[in-house]
Amino acid sequence: MNKASYINIFEEHLESLKKVGNYRSFTKIKRKCGSFPKAEYFMDDGTSKDVTIWCSNDYLGMGQNKHVLNAMHESIDEAGCGAGGTRNISGNTSYINDLESTVAKLHDKQAGLVFTSGYVANQGALSTIARLLPNSIIFSDEKNHASMIHGIKDSKCMKYVFRHNDVEHLRQLLQAAPKDAPKIIAFESVYSMDGDIAPIEQFCDLADEYSALTYLDEVHAVGMYGPRGAGIAAQENIADRIDIIEGTFGKAYGVIGGYIAGHETIIDAVRSFSANFIFTTSLPPAILAAARASVEHLMSSEIERQALKSNVKYFKDRLDVTGLPYMKGPSHIVPLIIGEPKCCKAIADLMLNQHDIYVQPINFPTVPKGTERLRLTVTATHTKQDIDKLCATLESLYASKHGFQVNVA
Ligand SMILES: *Cc1c(COP(=O)(O)O)cnc(C)c1O
Repeated sequence: MNKASYINIFEEHLESLKKVGNYRSFTKIKRKCGSFPKAEYFMDDGTSKDVTIWCSNDYLGMGQNKHVLNAMHESIDEAGCGAGGTRNISGNTSYINDLESTVAKLHDKQAGLVFTSGYVANQGALSTIARLLPNSIIFSDEKNHASMIHGIKDSKCMKYVFRHNDVEHLRQLLQAAPKDAPKIIAFESVYSMDGDIAPIEQFCDLADEYSALTYLDEVHAVGMYGPRGAGIAAQENIADRIDIIEGTFGKAYGVIGGYIAGHETIIDAVRSFSANFIFTTSLPPAILAAARASVEHLMSSEIERQALKSNVKYFKDRLDVTGLPYMKGPSHIVPLIIGEPKCCKAIADLMLNQHDIYVQPINFPTVPKGTERLRLTVTATHTKQDIDKLCATLESLYASKHGFQVNVA
């Protein structure tokens, strides 16, 4: 094969994405510190304009919170930029130990462990925990995030996938499994693309009945729900029944990085055996200090959560008035199903180009084919005018696109 034929193969792969409308084009923006959710959007012709972001996971605006920014500035002045090594070789800064204590405290667990991202935390923790338990079986919700699926694959353990949030199906699978095999039930609290919430208590009951460990991804809930922002399990007063809670500093906490919290022995085992934890440079002091400031701020402040709650209510009430068929759910995430990738992208393009509203179309494989959607996230920082404008824009586009193949669940 010559070089050109290698390139051709990659081109064909890309073409196949483009043909079905699943090719990803990134939207170039610069968030404006102090006026988020406003951002500068850079167009292909070299010009730029101001837009309002409607698809950010910085739900509480912590990415511009002054305590978080100060912590980041101060730590750079104190300790410089990078960590300079892996945790094992000179990179175990006091900042990372402090952050791990903070997340353990947040979740009332014995220990915490910080990873480069939530993705890496799920992949490393699930694969290591399952691998260390001989002949273990993982029970995984069918809508689990790619990072959990990746971890489960890496563990090379037996896996049973249960129907989304389906307690009876999980029970059947647990019943059918060998009684003595170690079992792990892996699921999320708030599902990121549908915005629905798992029946955590019933899953914990099953875990007790079948002696399984529980592994809960609270990525879209930490900082947001429950006392001190400890998540949905804490809100339901059952966090003590979750063996491993996994979270991120990249969403509501507004920074980056991931973590797990749980029993000190399990945490120590992951620390000791997870390759993606061991063989990578640890996060820089600035990130860790900012993440800790954000977690600690949201452990005591209710202002941001209250502002979000009131915006979510206002937003959903407005959508109800317009009659737009959004997926109703208990969380802050508002999916509007379009059902076809090209139409989904066309609507998002129109909103961005003509109405200065940025919402990224969500296509396969992030969501199943036929459920392509706009995943709308109001934040604590949107104004009522922002919400009114979005609803009016969607309403006009929905009406004008009605002849389109708008297939709404
Ligand atoms: C975003 C996400 C992750 C990954 O977290 P990052 O910190 O962004 O890597 C894990 N689980 C779920 C459900 C997510 O939505």
